[in-house]
Amino acid sequence: MPKTAKLSVTEQIQHLSDNALVCRDLMHAWSVDRPYYRVDVEGGVRGGFYVERTKGCMRCGTQRVELYRVFRDRLELIRSHYKYPDGYLIAGAGNVQAIRGRIRREGVRRVLEDMETPEALKDESA
Ligand SMILES: [Zn+2]
Repeated sequence: MPKTAKLSVTEQIQHLSDNALVCRDLMHAWSVDRPYYRVDVEGGVRGGFYVERTKGCMRCGTQRVELYRVFRDRLELIRSHYKYPDGYLIAGAGNVQAIRGRIRREGVRRVLEDMETPEALKDESA
């Protein structure tokens, strides 16, 4: 597959794996990869108690690492970051919400490509 940076947004969507396509439509299917563990936070509040955990998507393999501050009665999410599998990110697409309709359209194309589709919908611009 060519490098994604050189593909149009439409081409990148067409190259998404089936799993990535479903996750971009339905959101990830999380499972805990590594349960909460204590971490020291540089620049954290003095006396603050922090934990991290790592979640993994059972479908596409995306990972999310979450950092929380522990309070007596709750956790507060401080920050999180994602590690995406190759080919998951779509360069130049902007906001995820903005392309969700196109993602779903691609899902329909894959399912219906062998079925009869109205001519007017076969043109990509339609
Ligand atoms: Zn996923």
